[in-house]
Amino acid sequence: MSLEGFEVAVVGAGPAGSAAALTLAREGVQVLLVERGTFPGSKNVFGGRIYSYALKRLLGERWKDAPVERFVRKEGITFMTADSSFSVEYESKDPTGSFTSIRSKFDKWLAEEAEKAGASLITDSRVDDLVLERGIVKGIIAGPDKIPTDVVIACDGTTTNLARKAGLASMLEPREVSIGMKDVIELPADKMEERLGLEPEEGAAHVFVGECSGGLRGGGFLYTNKDSLALGMVVGADDISTKKVPSHTLMDRLRNHRKVRRLIRGGKTIEYDAHMIPEAGPKMLTRPYTGGMLVAGDAAGHLLNNGYTFRGVDMAIVSGIAAAQTILEARKRKDYSAQSLQTYARRLREEPALKDMYTFSKVPRYLRNNRLYNVYPELVCNAAEAIYRVDGNRKRKIYKELRTQTKGKVSTISLIRDLLAGARTF
Ligand SMILES: Cc1cc2nc3c(=O)[nH]c(=O)nc-3n(C[C@H](O)[C@H](O)[C@H](O)COP(=O)(O)OP(=O)(O)OC[C@H]3O[C@@H](n4cnc5c(N)ncnc54)[C@H](O)[C@@H]3O)c2cc1C
Repeated sequence: MSLEGFEVAVVGAGPAGSAAALTLAREGVQVLLVERGTFPGSKNVFGGRIYSYALKRLLGERWKDAPVERFVRKEGITFMTADSSFSVEYESKDPTGSFTSIRSKFDKWLAEEAEKAGASLITDSRVDDLVLERGIVKGIIAGPDKIPTDVVIACDGTTTNLARKAGLASMLEPREVSIGMKDVIELPADKMEERLGLEPEEGAAHVFVGECSGGLRGGGFLYTNKDSLALGMVVGADDISTKKVPSHTLMDRLRNHRKVRRLIRGGKTIEYDAHMIPEAGPKMLTRPYTGGMLVAGDAAGHLLNNGYTFRGVDMAIVSGIAAAQTILEARKRKDYSAQSLQTYARRLREEPALKDMYTFSKVPRYLRNNRLYNVYPELVCNAAEAIYRVDGNRKRKIYKELRTQTKGKVSTISLIRDLLAGARTF
């Protein structure tokens, strides 16, 4: 393939990159989509759930061709101590709002959609640098190839080398990222459905808080694929390094907890992956654009993890679309200067799905409260034990029982403060 004559280079064929390339190619723009993996998705890790609205926005009714494993009918959260657990479940009336998928299939499919729209994809090709002329980005350098383009979209994920090369980001601090780790455990569909109380082809998404993270900031997750479970943990990188907890011990805690053990029993682990997750939000970059370049997806911190929903892929798709739309506008003006591309920042702020990041912008700070991981899950479980246990001793009223459980564990002032802060944050 000739590497001449491209107007836009999109770096990274994850959800952000493919969405951007597709949106541009559909409008007749000459787009080159460059991926370092042997195929799109070959290197990508995630938990397992994608919110459908973003794909509908990108593809209309064709979103239904996506490689869906299961539509998520059941949501659940479990608070756990070493030997007890308290779970809450919700069954959605419309499971099509989100689905589980496997990234090696999903990213490949989405990149193929971009190709069908006219984008040119090259794989196994790592972009090492930017072509810079007087501070303006004028193309990319991939191995021996210097590829001139009018504009570049960096969709190269959390550790984004390109945003740093363009002077938009500094080195990531441990407190700005989490470490995500995941097992894929093969399990026959009927067993999985029986254990999780699902109808055939329905899926579940479940989070775990407490014992599994060993007091560290974070929690566990479980998603159902067609005939496998994705079981994993997301934990603050700074907490892991300062408390010197080996990450594999956290996965062991989760796998061996009685609540999880019986769900995965007899399953065969066929994959283990780990990856970084941006937690600092959009302020991870000084700004998401510069002369000749835009940044989208994880690379721009477009991700929202508020403890009960984890949204990276939908945010990546939406920001990829926004980047492409910004370029389509700038193309009419034939002006890719920083001044022309600054409309991208406005687009991002006005995009309803991305606004959620600002609505919940205080969540990361709230979730830094260690009591959420090493005090409250235990309180919830102990209170449930006290309420449900009937052993012939005189029972106290529930309110009194709850007061007794908090004694010595958390002061009333801290409890009220945490509740109020939670109410304000969420
Ligand atoms: C354990 C874990 C669980 C998660 N669970 C969920 C979940 O359930 N739901 C959800 O929505 N999100 C989840 N996420 C987050 C989600 O995976 C990301 O937010 C999403 O993948 C971001 O998409 P992206 O396109 O911005 O970046 P990525 O998916 O990271 O894609 C970046 C692409 O760029 C390529 N690349 C990087 N550098 C270069 C280079 N120099 N040259 C060429 N190519 C390059 C990479 O190979 C990759 O294909 C999870 C993440 C982790 C780690």
